Amino acid sequence: MSAFKIIATDEKARAGVLQTAHGMVETPIFMPVGTQGTVKALTPLNLKETQAQIILGNTYHLYLRPGSKIIKDIGGLHKFMGWDGPILTDSGGFQAFSLGAMIEHGVRKVTPNSPKSHPERSEGSRVDVSVSNKLRDSSAEPLSNRLNLLKTVMTEEGVEFTSHLDGSKHLLTPEKSAEVQLDLGSDVILVLDELLSPMHGRDYVEKSLERTHRWELRSLDYFKKNLKKSTNSGSLIFGIVQGVQDKVIREREAKWVASQGFDGVSIGGSFAGNTSSWFKPSAVTEGMEWIVPNLPDSWARHALGIGEVRDIFECVERGIDMFDCVAPTRRARNGSLYISPENGGRVKNMFTMKVSTSKFKNDPQPIDPGCLCYTCQNFSRAYLRHLYLSSEILYHNLASIHNVYFMVGLTKVIRESIINREFKKLKKTWLV
Ligand SMILES: [Zn+2]
Repeated sequence: MSAFKIIATDEKARAGVLQTAHGMVETPIFMPVGTQGTVKALTPLNLKETQAQIILGNTYHLYLRPGSKIIKDIGGLHKFMGWDGPILTDSGGFQAFSLGAMIEHGVRKVTPNSPKSHPERSEGSRVDVSVSNKLRDSSAEPLSNRLNLLKTVMTEEGVEFTSHLDGSKHLLTPEKSAEVQLDLGSDVILVLDELLSPMHGRDYVEKSLERTHRWELRSLDYFKKNLKKSTNSGSLIFGIVQGVQDKVIREREAKWVASQGFDGVSIGGSFAGNTSSWFKPSAVTEGMEWIVPNLPDSWARHALGIGEVRDIFECVERGIDMFDCVAPTRRARNGSLYISPENGGRVKNMFTMKVSTSKFKNDPQPIDPGCLCYTCQNFSRAYLRHLYLSSEILYHNLASIHNVYFMVGLTKVIRESIINREFKKLKKTWLV
């Protein structure tokens, strides 16, 4: 029986319910990212208040620190972090690959607030801030030598990577990734795939996709054999549609994943960077048009790392149900807060405003007048600006509450519009 049920549609847009071992998730839904077993600056109580229904945990980070066995012994990730709602975990592959791929292709991290780029999907993978002790210790070495310390090696078995924390070597196999996610007690487990870069040649892409098929099946096999004895015997497993910006490849990969015994599907983009086509807005819509018609209607569909307002509308319109992105919490910390269209939010300003702006110095209004979050109900722009400029810890909490509430709330409003068959009308009021 499918874990996902569609309750209403408006053309291709769907309102559904995903049943997990830790409760129902109403879709479309935005999932805040809890990289290190915490959605940064938010308590589980705060998260509930933001109306978050499901969060995303990062396998790579939790595997390296504190270690999945420690979390398993304490009762799983839900108990460990005090969150009793659903959790989706990634495979850990993105972080393991992204450090190596960035180095191999000279791709730099994209800037979260640039209107032309989108933030990458996982926090903590940045080479520039996550420099290991080993890297620091070898600071007399030329930069290229130091970065080589983080290089990943791909084999049929899995991906060998170097910890960004202490320089230790690890082998992430499909079985290991599934084992770690089962130890964490995740409600939705993702299979291991290889992250592709637009700079990979066609031959490499084809070979990689064949290997990813084998990895996805190995992940599924391990999952099925070990689910019963895991921390959460009600876990679901999602396959991944991988590929580059190519119609033939994307259609073929979607059909392949659709023919396997998964519970749902996540759609991955090519690796981010200045030349990455996935990160152009048109590539997201184009990619979804190639992929989605080839997926089963009965599966929940998750767009990995997508969480900009515009992209959420475009993807929902093409039949996507779940989103995750670090943008709300990262932007909050950087002083960039979401505003609705009636308060000046537009695609060109990424629906954000700078809290530090001098015109808010004595502004008694909330960040986003009309917003029902705890922050907007109780605090002024002037106060938030003061906290931000004073580097007060409370700023991070209040700003993150607002930004997460804003994105979760957006998907909630979108859901209602689908049920009322007014999705297109809502989209027009936002993407003016
Ligand atoms: Zn608010």
